Amino acid sequence: MDSLNNYLRKFPKIQLILQDEGVKKLIEKYSYNAVKDKLEEIFSEEKEKIKIKINFQDNAILEDNIFKIEHFVLLLKDYFNNFSFSLKRVINGTGVVVHTNLGRSILPKAAVENVFKISSSYSNLEFNLEEGMRGKRYSHVEILLNRILNSEAAIVVNNNAAAVFMALNTFASGIKKEVIVSRGELVEIGGSFRIPDIMKASGAQLIEVGTTNKTKINDYESEINENTALLLKVHHSNFKMTGFVHEVNSKELVETGKKYNIPVMEDLGSGSFIKFEKFGLPKEPTAQEVVDAGIDIVTFSGDKLLGGPQAGIIAGKKEYVDLIAKNPLNRAFRIDKMTLAALEAVLFEYLDINNAVKNIPTLRLLSQNILEIKKRGAKLLAKLKKLESTHKIMYNFSIIEDFSIVGGGAMPDYEMKTYCLSVTHKFFAAEKLSEIFRSLQIPIIGKIKSGEFLIDLRTVLDDDINDIIDNFIKASQILS
Ligand SMILES: *Cc1c(COP(=O)(O)O)cnc(C)c1O
Repeated sequence: MDSLNNYLRKFPKIQLILQDEGVKKLIEKYSYNAVKDKLEEIFSEEKEKIKIKINFQDNAILEDNIFKIEHFVLLLKDYFNNFSFSLKRVINGTGVVVHTNLGRSILPKAAVENVFKISSSYSNLEFNLEEGMRGKRYSHVEILLNRILNSEAAIVVNNNAAAVFMALNTFASGIKKEVIVSRGELVEIGGSFRIPDIMKASGAQLIEVGTTNKTKINDYESEINENTALLLKVHHSNFKMTGFVHEVNSKELVETGKKYNIPVMEDLGSGSFIKFEKFGLPKEPTAQEVVDAGIDIVTFSGDKLLGGPQAGIIAGKKEYVDLIAKNPLNRAFRIDKMTLAALEAVLFEYLDINNAVKNIPTLRLLSQNILEIKKRGAKLLAKLKKLESTHKIMYNFSIIEDFSIVGGGAMPDYEMKTYCLSVTHKFFAAEKLSEIFRSLQIPIIGKIKSGEFLIDLRTVLDDDINDIIDNFIKASQILS
């Protein structure tokens, strides 16, 4: 412990560092308090690093230059010169393909290019070119959606939560308007979206039927009365029920709706256009299947399994979609032109399923062959091993097998085989490595399993590889 105190005593005075000419320039630009706060943060990080080294090695010898004023000036400059936007690109090493905290789906190149084109010039967003007068912003995607889904009409709004909310509000707000939902489908998606809460906020009255594990068509029928405004089915999304369970399928619900002349809606959540079982993944109901079953209104997200921008798609029978489109809330939830440009390009890919799987990153990451992932790992490992000859590297790298998950509230209990780069460090624990990699210019978000920091190669893009190498060089400078 003596040696630790001796080392801590060698730290220069904060005031002296703040008087450095280079630091004064930073203060002019970023304010005294910002620079001083950062310096204090750097001090405590440096102290922590020294502690770790000394704990690890009793008679550790630390080089003198890490106590010089210049060292701290350099760290400060490094931080402030790399000062960047708050919203930034990160490398997803979590293996969760549709990761809500990391922006869900990444857009295909064609979609990004279209966003650039449409938003850097004027467009016919709400202009009918044939007739030379006002047009509808939904028209740009409605024809494509109807073609893919075989639906009569479609509109798109800000996200699926807005789509569900607007539909409920359209059909069931007002006194004594009831919406019947199975108790097994009163789900919560990511904290703030709970079916009972959305229902309440929309003005609809929730009528729960059945039990948690079993709901039969008679349960719906026995609650139908003159106040029933809608029959609602909600996709389980992020949970799975097994054992003694029964739910009413879309077709049965449609028949009942027809019998009593009540519209039937399905919140499909993730909404996929392709049959994932073709790629060895579990079956997810597709949006086409739901429309085929005769559901009047189906809603789903644009940025989950569909692989597009954040959006809520509402499709189905024209008479009902038109009613929703006329709801004044539509003005509040309407989709922006950049999203629309991205969505049209993504939908276009779906006209040919092979194109969709090849070009839409979410589909590609989910359907990629395990050997491709293994190859990516081998490539990364070889590059990292090379670093060891030119840099002082104190990591241990290896490629290990693990599992990734789909995310986005889809296929909740399904694990896909994957490969990860496992990283351990001579001195620092996985938590510390994870913290350092999060703090870099292009942060890497990984996962920690049995004391190892893992970068799941399923969600690492080809363009990420060189940045990962750069990150390791930077991180070893920080950790040395
Ligand atoms: C994800 C999800 C929603 C919310 O969709 P957002 O696009 O995130 O607004 C609603 N319902 C279900 C069943 C979902 O899975």
